[in-house]
Amino acid sequence: MLPSTMQEFPLTISAVLRHGRTVYGDAECVTWTENGPRRATYATIADNAGRAAGALARLGVKSGDRVGTFMWNSQEHMEVYLAVPSMGAVVHTLNIRLFPEQLAYVINHGEDKVVFVDDSLVPLLAKVASDLASVECFVIVGDGDCDASLLGDRRVERYSDLIAKESPDFDWPEIDERQASAMCYTSGTTGNPKGVVYSHRSSFLHSFAATTPNALNLSERDRILMIVPMFHANAWGIPYAAFLCGASLVMPGRFLQAEPVTRMVKEERVTFAGAVPTIWADIYRYGEEHEIDLSTIRSIICGGSAVPRSLMENFEKKYGVRIIQAWGMTETSPLAAVAHPPRSVEIGSPAEMDWRARTGRVVGGVELRLVDDMGNALPWDNEAVGEIEVRGPWITGSYYRDPAPEKFDNGWLRTGDVGTVSPEGYVQITDRAKDVIKSGGEWISSVELENILMGHPDVVEASVIGVPDARWDERPLACVVRKNGGGADAAVLAAYLAEHVAKWQVPERWSFIDEVPKTSVGKFDKTVLSARHEKGELLIEQLD
Ligand code: ADP
Repeated sequence: MLPSTMQEFPLTISAVLRHGRTVYGDAECVTWTENGPRRATYATIADNAGRAAGALARLGVKSGDRVGTFMWNSQEHMEVYLAVPSMGAVVHTLNIRLFPEQLAYVINHGEDKVVFVDDSLVPLLAKVASDLASVECFVIVGDGDCDASLLGDRRVERYSDLIAKESPDFDWPEIDERQASAMCYTSGTTGNPKGVVYSHRSSFLHSFAATTPNALNLSERDRILMIVPMFHANAWGIPYAAFLCGASLVMPGRFLQAEPVTRMVKEERVTFAGAVPTIWADIYRYGEEHEIDLSTIRSIICGGSAVPRSLMENFEKKYGVRIIQAWGMTETSPLAAVAHPPRSVEIGSPAEMDWRARTGRVVGGVELRLVDDMGNALPWDNEAVGEIEVRGPWITGSYYRDPAPEKFDNGWLRTGDVGTVSPEGYVQITDRAKDVIKSGGEWISSVELENILMGHPDVVEASVIGVPDARWDERPLACVVRKNGGGADAAVLAAYLAEHVAKWQVPERWSFIDEVPKTSVGKFDKTVLSARHEKGELLIEQLD
């Protein structure tokens, strides 16, 4: 082997921090509060990150220790995101919408030593405070009134007091790029949540990739509205990517409803935004009844679950805003595929949407394959259906203290997502393996049925689950939320579906519900729907 002449330069979050501070010190992070926007430059954020690291060192946090964050998206969350890994510790983002037992599980399993908590979230965290064995100190962020005694007899500090005493010039240690920088647990729709531990190297490379045109296409000219929570798969890599490329950030805090979000877009001249499909669907509905201005937005990144084609078409037609679909998971940092159309297709042409409605094209840095039940590789021909497996420098190779060998296949991560791949590397997810519907030996894609149903003008939300059937083993049950609870009935919707899919795939069972239950990250919760069905709680209309 001929050695290279290149420097052994570690890829670290500290390098992201240095770059953002020195080159883009005047970029802005805006946090939405009840008193309007609060502004800080990246230089201030970097200074505060130094102060936070000083405070954490004084609290006894050492290299490798886990520091939890139970916070909304905000300037302070960004400071902790940068400080903790750069001082050699590990930032552990906590999903504020987990059930208390799961929240206690992830903090205990991660053995968090310090937990940062927003003042408004203290009562929520207090529910589990006495069950947290490893936590030595809670740091309350924000100066609002809150009853710290709810957190029990553990040490409690205020973030503003802590950093006021510290110097911005923390003596940052040298970091090995392979050491842990952050951890995040999957939302645990099945069984206990599983921990994924990112390295400095994986986070750095992921951030780099995230800025590129084939991924999020970010630059200093962007003002990013980060609706996706920083605890949901690292907010899709946006925080570090923004600091690295100098894009300004607009942090909505707890103001996630359509009214304040659309106000932020207008007043802060947002150019780019990221959120799950349910949020964009809410915003679209809000825009049907209110005057909103989204004209500054050049593109929206949307993923976490399948993005209905109708949602993309609606936004484009009404507001000229491009929704770009992305696919990934906590285990993949998360960016793995992004649905930009190929160069053979003209931007704005009707054919473009056929590509953009796919789940995504695998991004450079990620390797992907499709396998059958026996683990044999399947062709990329748009036809063969199998499980997607991925590998690469920002894909997890194991779970934290949880062997789960069934999730890995010879160095590949088994994603549990089932679908097809095109010769050009576009993935089309048809289902999660646990949601697939097998009717008389044939697969029915719940994602496809939902997607089409949500394109019907009377349908607000639709979730399709498999239910037992005496003749076919399993058949689809369509659970539909209609606009104002009326409009098209089961027969009309079945006929509408039959225009798009084979007749045998059209459900005969229909249930009209008020709302599709959602998971802690805003995805349709099919486990809850199935349980309701099993308990006989869903009113079913049966077509012949
Ligand atoms: P959890 O696995 O706990 O739900 P994640 O947010 O990591 O948490 O979820 C990753 C999963 O979300 C993927 O495996 C896939 O099933 C689904 N997903 C993400 N993006 C898309 C998309 N664009 N289309 C379809 N499914 C998606």
